This record gives sequence, C-alpha cells and structure tokens, in this order.
Amino acid sequence: STSLSHHFSRLLLFLSLLSCRFFFTMLRRSTVLSSRVLRSFSSSPLSYNSAHYSLSEDAAMLRETVASWADRVLAPLAASIDADNDAPLSLYEQMGELGIHGITVPVEQGGLGLGYFEHTLVMEEISRASGSVGLSYGAHSNLCINQLARHGTKEQTDRFLPDLIAGRALGSLAMSEAGSGSDVVSMRTTARRDDARGGWVLNGTKFWITNAPQASTLLVYAKTDPTAGPRGITTFIVEKGMAGFSVSPKLDKLGMRGSNTAELVFEDCFIPDENVLGAVGDGVRILMSGLDLERLVLAAGPVGLMQATLDTVGSYVHERRQFETPVGHFQLMQGKLADMYSATSQARAYVH
Ligand SMILES: Cc1cc2nc3c(=O)[nH]c(=O)nc-3n(C[C@H](O)[C@H](O)[C@H](O)COP(=O)(O)OP(=O)(O)OC[C@H]3O[C@@H](n4cnc5c(N)ncnc54)[C@H](O)[C@@H]3O)c2cc1C
Repeated sequence: STSLSHHFSRLLLFLSLLSCRFFFTMLRRSTVLSSRVLRSFSSSPLSYNSAHYSLSEDAAMLRETVASWADRVLAPLAASIDADNDAPLSLYEQMGELGIHGITVPVEQGGLGLGYFEHTLVMEEISRASGSVGLSYGAHSNLCINQLARHGTKEQTDRFLPDLIAGRALGSLAMSEAGSGSDVVSMRTTARRDDARGGWVLNGTKFWITNAPQASTLLVYAKTDPTAGPRGITTFIVEKGMAGFSVSPKLDKLGMRGSNTAELVFEDCFIPDENVLGAVGDGVRILMSGLDLERLVLAAGPVGLMQATLDTVGSYVHERRQFETPVGHFQLMQGKLADMYSATSQARAYVH
C-alpha cells in the first residue's frame, strides 16, 4: 500500500506540474496576444480595428478615407443637422467626390465596381458621424442608385446615373404606403395603361419616403394589374416636376432628423414607357431582390451608432471622476464596457 500511495502522489505531482505548465503557457500566449492587439489599436482599445476583421488593404484604405472625411466634415455638423432637421445638400456632393454613391455600380456605368461588403463599411463610417445622413446616404446609394444600375436600360442608366453618382441629384425609392408596410405587396397605388400617349397613369400615395423632399429621381412601385397579386406590380422612374406628382412637407420626426422623410402623392401622373424600370409585371422580383441588399447595407448604420457610443464612452470613463476615482476604475463600469464592446463586435461580425 506504501508503494501504491507513492505512485499515486507522483502521478498527482506530474498532473499538477502539467496543468501549471499548460496554465503558464496559455497565460504567456494570451499576454503576448493582448499586447499585440493593444498595440494595433489606432486610438483606444474600443476603436475600430481593421486587423480584427481581416480587411483587405483596399477595403481598409476605403474605410479610413471615409472615416477621416466623416470625422473632419460630418461629425461637427451632426448636432445642428439634428436640431434643424436638415442636412446641407453639399454633403452629398462631397460624398460624390469620394465616389461612394456609386460604390456598387459597375465601372462601365460610372461607379466604383465594389461589392456590398465595402458598401457596409462606408455605411457604418458615415452613420458613426451622423445616423441621419447615413440613412439618407443608404437610401440614395443603395435603394435608388443600386436598383437603377441593376435593372435600368443603357438609356436609363446613361440619363440618370451621372448626376446621382456625383451627388448633384438625390434619389429615393418608394414602396411603403400608409396601409402597406411589412405587407408591402398589398399596396394600393395603381398605374393605368394609356396606349394613346404610350405610357402609364399613376394614382395613389406613398408614405415614409426617405429623401423625397429633395429627390429628383424616385423609383416607385405600383400595381399595373391589381387582379394579378404579386405578378401585377411594376417599377417606375418618377422625375421631380412631372405633372400630377407632388410631395408633402417633410415630417418632423423624433429621430433620424435631417434625413428628410415625406409622403408622395400621385394624381393622374403620366409616366412615359421609357421610364418603366425592368419589365411590366416584374416589380415584385425587383422589389424583393433589392430588399435583401437594402436591409443588409442599412444594417451597418446601427453598427456605426454603436461604435460612436463606444468611441465617446471610452474617453469619458477616464475623464469623469466620482469618489475621487475615474468612473472607469469601477469594476461594474468595466463590465458594462465589455458588454458594449462584445455586442458591437457581434453585430458587426454578423453584418460582415
Ligand atoms: C425613418 C424611416 C424611413 C423610411 N424610408 C422608407 C423609404 O425610403 N421607402 C419606403 O418605401 N419605405 C420607407 N420606410 C417605411 C418602412 O419600410 C416601413 O416602416 C417598414 O416596411 C415597416 O412597415 P410599418 O412601419 O408599416 O410597420 P408594420 O408593417 O405596421 O409592422 C408593425 C410591427 O409589426 C411587426 N410585424 C408585421 N408583420 C409581422 C409578421 N408577419 N410577423 C411578425 N411581426 C410582424 C413588425 O415587425 C413591426 O414591429 C421608412 C420608415 C422609416 C421609419
């Protein structure tokens, strides 16, 4: 029994040495890793870190260019944009100079020819500086420009895209109505065939339309055959100033102020055949395939808002002192920051 207990205690010693070695190896590795990670943070440990998301050199450069413009030009205006419920249109021209309105438009159509991943990077950075300008940018660049580029004829893209991509003109997309939100296919706006004039006559209203007060080009879905259900919807390119088309005063919203939202009203508004986008009756396919991409790109907006909160709170918890101590030294506050950082990283990883 003595030799058995001797073997047993040697086994215990061996196991504890092994676990100690494992523990110290892991500790050393994690210390090396965390010091490397900390060194690669640009400003604060809570800031965006390109290395965490395996961005290509080009994608990282695009993100940094937009982030730097947003920090320098847009962020200082964000409070007045919210208070005035208005954003200077010159901002969209400046974004046009950066090329980001046509980010997903093929190069031969005048765009940057990049993908939706790059679009989410740009959307996040603009929204980080101003959520409302981010929303209007998303509606313009994705809902309007991207849909036009995907479904427009050469004549249509040549005619409408140059001004929209340059930011000289603003675009909208209108599917929702007061009674048709999630159930958008139940829309009631109709387009009646007018063979004599070679076009369609629109009647009805659209509600909650982003950029509508200033938009010059609006993609509008309407029922060309109300008896055909989802197969009876068609997409139209409506232009500001068309007879029978008017826009309500902009809504005085509680949030996203400065991203102008309004109602569209169509009263016997004639749309010529050359302004039909895609095939007649193909509107639901255009709408639904676009929605998948719209919701993806717009989802990066809230990630930008979350990152803006982290950027602000990261320095605040060092500056703000209570009980003669920076509040960031309290463990509960550190736990809250860790939760915010994890939630933001998870949301961003999901969007990516
Ligand atoms: C700031 C802003 C900008 C907008 N910009 C545009 C624009 O540019 N163009 C445009 O066309 N539209 C725009 N919209 C409208 C937007 O697309 C609609 O708000 C959206 O489609 C939801 O419709 P709803 O608000 O009528 O909600 P509802 O459809 O009335 O839904 C109310 C609630 O019920 C839930 N719900 C509905 N159906 C179901 C279901 N089957 N199962 C479970 N839950 C359900 C919804 O998730 C929601 O929480 C905008 C809206 C806002 C707020």
